[in-house]
Amino acid sequence: MADTKIRLFVDQPLGAGQVIALNEGQANYLFAVMRLGVGAAIRVFNGRDGEWRAEVAEAGKRKGLLMCDVQTAPLQMPPDLWLLFAPIKKARTDFIVEKATELGAARVIPVQTRFTNADRIRIDKLRAHAVEAAEQCGGTYVPQVDEVVPLEKLLANWPAERRILWCNEHLAGVAEALPDGGEVGPWAILIGPEGGFSEAEQARLAAMPQVVQASLGPRILRADTAAVAALTLWQAQLGDWR
Ligand code: SAM
Repeated sequence: MADTKIRLFVDQPLGAGQVIALNEGQANYLFAVMRLGVGAAIRVFNGRDGEWRAEVAEAGKRKGLLMCDVQTAPLQMPPDLWLLFAPIKKARTDFIVEKATELGAARVIPVQTRFTNADRIRIDKLRAHAVEAAEQCGGTYVPQVDEVVPLEKLLANWPAERRILWCNEHLAGVAEALPDGGEVGPWAILIGPEGGFSEAEQARLAAMPQVVQASLGPRILRADTAAVAALTLWQAQLGDWR
């Protein structure tokens, strides 16, 4: 029986009659793990062409072919929201990328700050986490995950029109108000490292006209919790949850 619950990211064009060549990992997942055979149906997406129903046309041990038939969902872009965060321990960094994908960030940028103290970052693994999260949550878009960039360098070239929601634990319950309704425009959320931001970084951020400072409540959250809380706050007030 066709199991259209299975969703697979494929980095190939999608359209009616389009044939998709599966790589070894995808073939192993569909035919060995999920035990699908010729004629079974799954859903595929590539982050650009929406979601499509596709049937298994050939099933081999290391390869296979799918044939697309109908579109099952259009491409749904998230709001123009970037998540900037200082990487932490591996599992918690993976969690941040997974949750950013589920909660609807368009781009994820790990930043090196003065007090960033992280395990070595494997961007290919982080990108794979974003793909898996999109497969699992029904998303048709996969956020871009950038290489780690020094915060200073990023801020030096910061676009004039993109606002930054700086999550500042020192505000202790007091926050600047997020704009209410109207044209939202491009935004980014900034989450600091476990050690917080240095005084120089705080001064730099406070001097930027694009920066809006936010409190996430009276308790100090771990960086991964803070990322989820800030994305939730922003999406509910300015994003696609409204
Ligand atoms: N080292 C800091 C301290 O002990 O004061 C804590 C840093 S916190 C673990 C990591 C990041 O999460 C912070 O830099 C901030 O961006 C965010 N964060 C955590 N709790 C927050 C809060 N209550 N309000 C705003 N941001 C918060």
